[in-house]
Amino acid sequence: MNDPSLTLLISAEEIRKKVRELAQSIRNAYRGEELVLVSVLKGSVVFLVDLMRELDLDIEIGFLYLSSYLGETTPQTRVQHYILPFPKIEGRHVLIVEDILDTGASLLYAWQHCAEMKPQSLKTCVLVVKEGGAVGIFPRVDFQGFVIPRVFVVGYGLDFHEKYRHLPYVARLETPSE
Ligand code: 5GP
Ligand code: MG
Repeated sequence: MNDPSLTLLISAEEIRKKVRELAQSIRNAYRGEELVLVSVLKGSVVFLVDLMRELDLDIEIGFLYLSSYLGETTPQTRVQHYILPFPKIEGRHVLIVEDILDTGASLLYAWQHCAEMKPQSLKTCVLVVKEGGAVGIFPRVDFQGFVIPRVFVVGYGLDFHEKYRHLPYVARLETPSE
């Protein structure tokens, strides 16, 4: 890592191991069932792609394009929803796949959007949960990866002004205002 504004928080190897563990828990929970994975764009796409290849289940994928950061490092609680085609999830098992949980506004939005379509079951899988985030907003994470301090991170799908998504690890970004 040769960008001085980045500090490694979660290595690529740690992520690989965690994704395998999460996939195993999900496989056990849905064994013999058909599952719809709903990925929240754009941040969760790297996680989705790694996770789905470890699942060995009958799956379909769907996407929700939500935005709440508007390019900045401070979360906005107003969620913007860009409409995309969405799978029919009524009566099906649905698992929302999210990269990171901060205020919980995005996951709450995704949850309510899916719940309205009356799935048979609705659960959440979040790779990174920020300590003390989402308190009282969205406490329910069924499959949880890492817990990190409340700092702004990039990599493994997460961006800053669309940069850094391709990094195979998660790093803290020192922003100019810090
Ligand atoms: P929320 O505050 O609604 O829980 O999180 C909103 C969304 O903002 C997340 O799904 C994620 O895409 C993005 N987000 C939250 N925390 C961070 C962060 O530390 N870094 C980056 N790049 N995105 C984040
Ligand atoms: Mg996200």
